[in-house]
Amino acid sequence: MVDVEWIREHADEVQRTANEKGISLDVSEVIQADERWRASLARVEQLRYLRNQFTSEIAQAMQAEQQADMAQLKNEVRKNNKELQLQEKELQHHKKVLHELLMQVPNRVSEDTPYGLSDADNIEISRVGQPPAFPFPMKSHIELGEMHQLIDCRRGVKTAGSRHYYLRGMGVLLKRAVEQLAIDLLIQRGFEMLDVPLIVNAEAMERTGFFPQGIDQSFKIEGESKYLVGTSEVPLISYYSQEILDLTQPKRLAALSTCFRSEVGSAGRDVSGLYRVHQFSKVEQVILCRNDLDESERMLAEITQNAEDLLTMLELPYRVVAVCTGDMSQKTYKQFDIETWMPSREAYGETHSSSILLDFQARRSHIRYRDETGNLVFCHTLNNTAVALPRLLIPLLENHQQEDGSIYIPLALRPYMNGLTHLEI
Ligand code: AMP
Repeated sequence: MVDVEWIREHADEVQRTANEKGISLDVSEVIQADERWRASLARVEQLRYLRNQFTSEIAQAMQAEQQADMAQLKNEVRKNNKELQLQEKELQHHKKVLHELLMQVPNRVSEDTPYGLSDADNIEISRVGQPPAFPFPMKSHIELGEMHQLIDCRRGVKTAGSRHYYLRGMGVLLKRAVEQLAIDLLIQRGFEMLDVPLIVNAEAMERTGFFPQGIDQSFKIEGESKYLVGTSEVPLISYYSQEILDLTQPKRLAALSTCFRSEVGSAGRDVSGLYRVHQFSKVEQVILCRNDLDESERMLAEITQNAEDLLTMLELPYRVVAVCTGDMSQKTYKQFDIETWMPSREAYGETHSSSILLDFQARRSHIRYRDETGNLVFCHTLNNTAVALPRLLIPLLENHQQEDGSIYIPLALRPYMNGLTHLEI
């Protein structure tokens, strides 16, 4: 959520950001709704004040046994209470309208964010490693997965429908090895691991900025106001909702969780293989830090570096792109994506998203800390993927395939794979 005062003072900027992020919003409606709510609140407060006045006047009249005054006062009280009831109802209505509009307002965007309409306008800022040039016919992860009996998409579809898959045998071990490598690296770098709820209530989704926009991306539990999480960012941030934190040091949290996404809006895109599926697993990094842009920038560099180090350990070529306005979500202030080389796509494919959210989630989730002067301040939050699978199996299998059909296991993974150097057919 964005502060109403800030919206009022930066109406043009808010409108421009909404347009650039593709969010349908008329900022003047928000400002008018805020004015109506304030006026309504003032009326209610005035009527409450009068109610208290009448109460003490009645008490005085009773003491003085002034029957005539009392009857008149009681009449006034009745009228006042009736009007107060009406106005309190109005106030609730104005509050609801304002809340719904505020839920649509986008976070502001950093000055160095490139302007653009879609991911095609993202700007590459670094490239690490060389995509391999295969001196033999290259196989896709689907072919390699079948050959080595690691992946079974056909039976996944049979059991659960499109965008579902099974991992088998060494495929399961490989996935677990990558996840454990990421977990060990994050623990070594000061992150606290949490095992998190995967079914959360609607409030947690709204407070972390995934609802109301994005509600169609989630799976609802029938008959309940509960949802399957699309990312552990939701339970990780919610862990501290409505709390006052000690942020002398940033809080570094991580979780390995299954993620569920409906992927509506991606109809027909990436339907085969492991790129875009309904259920995947992710080791996620989350940071809560002071409301200080320099600190947030340092944290963004840190969580981005963690992901880059993991890709280097996996011996994979990747690039980092600055995400443009049109490819950003409502809650994002600044974002880098990391894209890993995927030979079958003949392109880099997104494997990580690293973002600063300023105090957008903290305002909604009511997470604060005391600054140097003792004032309560909303903190900043950030997040980035550490590893997400099975998508990361695509570059892992495809880049490391050998002419004899075997698959090379990067050195860093071998301790988690019983020392195995290759997956042999
Ligand atoms: P996000 O939480 O949307 O920033 O996504 C983080 C990472 O999760 C992406 O970069 C992908 O690696 C992975 N991911 C997101 N959506 C899917 C999906 N539908 N299927 C497989 N992997 C996904």
